[in-house]
Parts: sequence; C-alpha cells; structure tokens
Amino acid sequence: MQPKPNIVHLPVYQPGKPIEEVKRELGLTEVIKLASNENPFGSSPKALEAIKRELDNVSIYPDGAAVELTNALAKRLGVDPDQIIFGAGSDEVILMIARAFLLPGDENITADQTFPQYRHNIEIENGVVVEVPLKDGTHDLHGMLAKVNPKTKIVWICNPNNPTGTIVTHDEVEWFLSKVPSNVMVVLDEAYCEYIDDPSFPNGLELLKKYPNLVLLRTFSKIYGLASLRIGYGVGRAELIRSINQVREPFNTSRFGQAAALAALEDQAFIDRCREANKQGLVTLRAAFDRLGLPAFPAYGNFIMVDVKRPAQDVFQALLRKGVIVRAGHKHYPTHIRITVGSAEQNAKVISALEEVLQEIAVQV
Ligand SMILES: *Cc1c(COP(=O)(O)O)cnc(C)c1O
Repeated sequence: MQPKPNIVHLPVYQPGKPIEEVKRELGLTEVIKLASNENPFGSSPKALEAIKRELDNVSIYPDGAAVELTNALAKRLGVDPDQIIFGAGSDEVILMIARAFLLPGDENITADQTFPQYRHNIEIENGVVVEVPLKDGTHDLHGMLAKVNPKTKIVWICNPNNPTGTIVTHDEVEWFLSKVPSNVMVVLDEAYCEYIDDPSFPNGLELLKKYPNLVLLRTFSKIYGLASLRIGYGVGRAELIRSINQVREPFNTSRFGQAAALAALEDQAFIDRCREANKQGLVTLRAAFDRLGLPAFPAYGNFIMVDVKRPAQDVFQALLRKGVIVRAGHKHYPTHIRITVGSAEQNAKVISALEEVLQEIAVQV
C-alpha cells in the first residue's frame, strides 16, 4: 500500500523536548522548558474554573460551530460572527485553509525560516512552496511581492515571525496588500499579537476592512495559556471563512477548549499582567545577551532568538544537561537558539546556565 508520494518525505513533527523525558534521561530533578513559547504563568484561574464546570458534559459532543465563543469573540474584535472560524489550534486553521484552497501545483510564498506548519500543509496538498530569504531575520515583503505570479495562491506572513521574533509594520503590510492581486490570499499569522503594544505593529482587523483577501490567524495557546486545549481561530471576510468552514470537521474543537477560551477572554487583567511580565523578561534577557556579547534579533513576542556564536546544537545539548530546554535546529541559523521568555526565576536560570555553557564551548568563527 502506497501513501501519497508527496507526503513520504515529510518529517514527523519534532516537538520541544518534554520536561519529564529530560528529567528521566539526564537524571535531573529540576528542568525548565523554554522551548515552545508557552505561557510561564499558566492560564487564567477563570479558565480553569470553566473547565471544571464542563466536566459534567464530557459525554456530550461540543457545539461544532462554537456559537457562544464565536459571538463573544466577534464582539470583542468588532467583527461579525460569520467572519470567525475556530480550529484545534490555529495549526488546524492552517490545515483547513490549505485543504480548502490549494490545488496541486498552486504556489505559496513563505519566508525561508518561518513557522513550519505552512510548508507542511502546503506539501500535503501537493502545493508548491516558494521561499523568500528573510532579511535581517525579517520578512522581505518586497522580495515576496516579486515572487507573485499567476500561479500564486497564498502568501503566508508570520508576524512576529517564529522563530526570529521580528515584525513587519502596519505600513509595510498595508503596502504589500495594496500591491498583491486580490485573488491571492494573504495569511497574517498573529499568534503572539496580544503581547505587542508597539504602535507600528499591524492592526490586522483594520486591514481586514479594506482587503478582502486577508486572513488573520490567532490563538489561545500563547498569551492565553491554553495550549493543551487546542483552540485557535481565523478571521476574514465572511465568504472566505465560509469556504474554510466547509472543510472543517464537525466537532473540531472541544467543550473544554471553548469554555476555557470564553472565560479567558473575560479575564483581560490576566493578559495585561502576562504582557507586562513578558516585557520585563525581554529586557532582562536582552541585557544579559548584551553583557555576554551575543547579538539577538528584535523580539516582539514571548521568545527571543539569540546568536550564541557556537554550534546551536552543542549549546542546546549543554543547556539540556543543566536542566534548561530551549529550541535549536533552525536551518538558516546554525548558531542561533530560540528562548521562550519565562518567569523571572526561569529567566535567571537560563541566563546563568547559558553563561556557564559559553565557557565550555569554543566560539565558532
Ligand atoms: C504557536 C504558533 C501557532 C499555533 O499554535 P496553536 O497551538 O496551533 O494555536 C501558529 N503560528 C505560530 C507562528 C505559532 O508560533
């Protein structure tokens, strides 16, 4: 029996190493994971309460259309409910977009180092990925526009870009949208937007009013701290969202995800606290990198990519032995690691561990 030829080469997703596995393998009792951009402060207690309340309904299918959550979110975002689609994480929204729109051979434009789920789902649909190199770790929108041709179906822009953490500004995205033909979809992945209060960051919802080919992706996995419940969403024009809805599985999000997201939306004080703590954490980490002479990209989300000037895999392994899990293995950045901003205590631990590791490993010139 043969699988589809276009999937045989696909890697099975390699997640950030789980804490329990690292403890077991290395005989450590204390391990911190700063590898998957999870919220170090957990989630709103109100979300946890909502999950408990849902326990009584475990045997009943969820509302597939997530009507209550959709209405609450629509109100909050100032859009119509039919402009929103929920997925099992925004990962699933990426999957559904690819499934609903890509024919074999359709071209997709992405950055050369960005969130891997775009390529993954494009390849499953037999689409073509046209990669445009990042410039200084930032999406090169001019370069991406130059690749648009009659075969182009979707342009994927990750903002801030995972793993580099850089952003393209509102004016840059608006310029891009004004140039791209309206039959080309532009997906703006804003998984970390709630962390950002920089005024130059795009107001995706404002751009949606003007550009019908734009789709925004957002999630409850990051600042909302609900990663395990798998709930994220897309926002776009109603006609476009309807097409995505047509390929959605009937019960793609869970009762727990919906209930927790609804409660989490109501607790914006928690979000404000997380944003502030993250900002502090970024200042602390950057100051340490400056002191250690390590250049880091501008960081806007809850992670920062730093050039450790040594083979990233070696630094990753050495940090692991000290009980700190980070992310390495970025094709175009062999001496960079991506570190999630943790709690103050976790940030202090990764800084002191990194300082020791830098002593142990020779600089790569
Ligand atoms: C984490 C992340 C997502 C997806 O998260 P979900 O848990 O699937 O909602 C999407 N895009 C980017 C850039 C991310 O970093």
